[in-house]
Amino acid sequence: MFDYMVVGAGFAGSVMAERLASVHGKKVLIVEKRPHIGGNAYDHYDDDGVLVHKYGPHIFHTNSQDVFDYLSRFTQWRPYQHRVLASVDGQLMPIPINLTTINQYFGLNLTAFQVEEFLKTLAEKRDTIRTSEDVIISKVGKELYEKFFRNYTRKQWGLDPSELDSTVIARIPVRSNRDDRYFSDKYQVMPLHGYTRMFERMLDHPNIKVMLNTDYHEVKDIIPYREMIFTGPVDEYFDFCFGKLPYRSLNFRHETHSTARFQQAPVVNFPNEYPYTRCTEFKYLTGQEHPKTSVVYEYPTAEGDPYYPVPRPENAELYRKYEQLAKDTPGVLFVGRLATYKYYNMDQVVAQALTLCTKIMGMRRRELLD
Ligand code: FAD
Ligand code: UDP
Repeated sequence: MFDYMVVGAGFAGSVMAERLASVHGKKVLIVEKRPHIGGNAYDHYDDDGVLVHKYGPHIFHTNSQDVFDYLSRFTQWRPYQHRVLASVDGQLMPIPINLTTINQYFGLNLTAFQVEEFLKTLAEKRDTIRTSEDVIISKVGKELYEKFFRNYTRKQWGLDPSELDSTVIARIPVRSNRDDRYFSDKYQVMPLHGYTRMFERMLDHPNIKVMLNTDYHEVKDIIPYREMIFTGPVDEYFDFCFGKLPYRSLNFRHETHSTARFQQAPVVNFPNEYPYTRCTEFKYLTGQEHPKTSVVYEYPTAEGDPYYPVPRPENAELYRKYEQLAKDTPGVLFVGRLATYKYYNMDQVVAQALTLCTKIMGMRRRELLD
């Protein structure tokens, strides 16, 4: 008899399993339908021996010391500051938009102080910042919005920025200095030996069993357990009884090139051209030295594996129905990006799982992590 059946071996499921087993001595079975652990953060060595992220680039960043310290039990880190260039009008320019981007795009030579004044002349006042369009137009005006954001967003989400919550594009800051890092978090690191190695160490516990290649439907009525922790799509769990929650999907095109370096930056974004949104060269992220190099292109699509919840009011409303049903369903707890329909980064999922652990175990965060 298992105390918990955990569905999904991504961050949400693995953190839950690890803490329940290590701190509470619970017996945990993880059931994962894919042939590997790690969820969407899974990485592996491709046929040429280059370390790649199967489901697109995963860069770890957090402001939470608790999350950083917790994961540090299972991995060493390599410092890594992520940088992205956007291909606009035949030039590569830093994104997030910063002083360099503005000077390059407009052919100017402004200082940080001058650029703030300049942006004020471009920005359009919006009384309320409700949508992703409002966020950008109120900061940098229409022209830069059109060149850097509008088409990328339409491609990525199949929706106009005016149809998406402000939180989507608000992930990308606008800076008046020359800071060209993609993230501003206190901790910006990559697991030294990769994500999968980190997950292996998390799950290496005598009380944790992992069953791969198994949909939980196949085993839930056969293997006895007391409670379930579910990290898959919440609408699927309830047989879509209120209708389908939209999740955006991606197709990944992986390529290996017989050259040590392929592009000028870890990621190049293509807002206005091509059906893909961005191209990532993994060796920048992993620090691996190799005579060849591997890249991935991301092609957004409506159908396929669910990768992104789509933040907009009607979806939030539909999710609230599932959320209520989840609360009213005894013996099952829902956690993670798909199960709580939140556009969460990895660190936010870890934090959410740790919070759920404190509730289940009746402990304070400090006790859980000591
Ligand atoms: P998942 O990783 O999706 O894990 C859920 C698991 O449940 C999956 O392995 C799935 O196979 C399994 N499952 C589902 N249904 C069943 C079933 N019926 N039976 C058995 N198993 C099932 N975050 C960052 O912090 N930085 C980044 O740079 C970043 N980049 C990203 C890039 C892309 C392209 C994507 C899609 C996401 C990115 N993220 C990034 C977000 C990150 O992937 C998520 O925050 C994190 O992986 C979510 O973990 P999770 O455990 O909630 O879900
Ligand atoms: N975005 C954009 N242009 C860019 C980069 C991002 O319009 O060059 C918008 C787009 O809507 C994207 C969102 O900002 O979906 C968040 O970008 P992020 O890079 O955080 O997306 P993720 O890595 O989660 O796919």
